[in-house]
Amino acid sequence: MIPIARPIIEEDEIHAVNEVMRSGVIAEGSRVAEFENKYSKYIGVNHAIAVNSGTAALQIALQAAGIGKGDEVITSSFSFIATANSILYTDARPVFADISPDTFNIDPDEIQTKITPRTKALLPVHLYGHPAEMKTIMEIAEDKKLDVIEDACQAHGAMEHGRHAGSFGIGTFSFYPTKNMTTSEGGMITTHDMEIDTVGRMIRSHGSKQRYHHEMLGYNFRMTDISAAIGLVQLKKLDDFNQKRIENAGYLSAGLKGLPGIDTPQIRSGCTHVFHQYTIRVTDDCRYERDRLVTLLGKHGIGTGIYYPIPIHKQPFYTRLGYTDSLKNTDIVSREVISLPVHPSVSREELDHIITTMGELTG
Ligand SMILES: *Cc1c(COP(=O)(O)O)cnc(C)c1O
Repeated sequence: MIPIARPIIEEDEIHAVNEVMRSGVIAEGSRVAEFENKYSKYIGVNHAIAVNSGTAALQIALQAAGIGKGDEVITSSFSFIATANSILYTDARPVFADISPDTFNIDPDEIQTKITPRTKALLPVHLYGHPAEMKTIMEIAEDKKLDVIEDACQAHGAMEHGRHAGSFGIGTFSFYPTKNMTTSEGGMITTHDMEIDTVGRMIRSHGSKQRYHHEMLGYNFRMTDISAAIGLVQLKKLDDFNQKRIENAGYLSAGLKGLPGIDTPQIRSGCTHVFHQYTIRVTDDCRYERDRLVTLLGKHGIGTGIYYPIPIHKQPFYTRLGYTDSLKNTDIVSREVISLPVHPSVSREELDHIITTMGELTG
């Protein structure tokens, strides 16, 4: 089976972990600070805060921006559950705006229709590694005096007009093993703002700047030196990993172009899409329904993923909270998407097998 994701762990990651283990300083050592420093430079921001998951990064970013009870945060329902849950953790209310069906990202015109006097922040998601429309979103935010938190958990290295995802508002990243780079579990907050950095660090570690002096309610969201050591090695490889994903995506799109009922991914002009996922749409013209095609691809040894089969506003927990939204494009694409293997270790032969099989099944 060609897996849908495969983390690349080599001798240098193993060596880096061994070094930390031998040093005896396995929690808070020098690697975390070094990783923060290198990551902030990579993204092009002044500050980065390493944490133990992308979900923690989202929660810290929102809380450091002062989001709380009575506030509304506009986000996408076509995302991983953590995007919206992080808003609930702050006692604020997620408000869902529909997406553009071409890029699967939040539609700025739809954001405009959801703004109320309670709106405090926008939380766009750079889904599958494709940047959301950040220039337009930042203009809306400026005009309406809103904070912007970017869910860049799938978008390490993605860019809009040469600027990194995660450098427009407050950036949040995940280093879960299936992401474009990993630290095992892990996450990062990126910001230009010194105040966000200061408060974010306090929230990460029990509300204290100085050990045993607690100024606010905080958590234990710290990254370990073991994770940071893996991250430092992976960060050096990130551009090569992404380049391979982009090449694989280009090869797949060339091979799948024109198949009836199959729409290949689009890239908005001026954007670097880092293809965390390579996601096609199976439309009404296809010979098979989406779920049937997934089964048949599996029989041919091709692993697939459906991200995400149920939009957040339709999850049982959210319907119990009273969400009854009807989001036209979100609802349509959640029935149409299939992600195909695109990660750096998919071989040319495997890509050819995917293309040939897709041709046989849909042609
Ligand atoms: C992975 C992911 C998260 C959460 O990151 P974790 O490290 O798993 O907590 C949040 N949002 C999106 C879009 C993700 O893909």
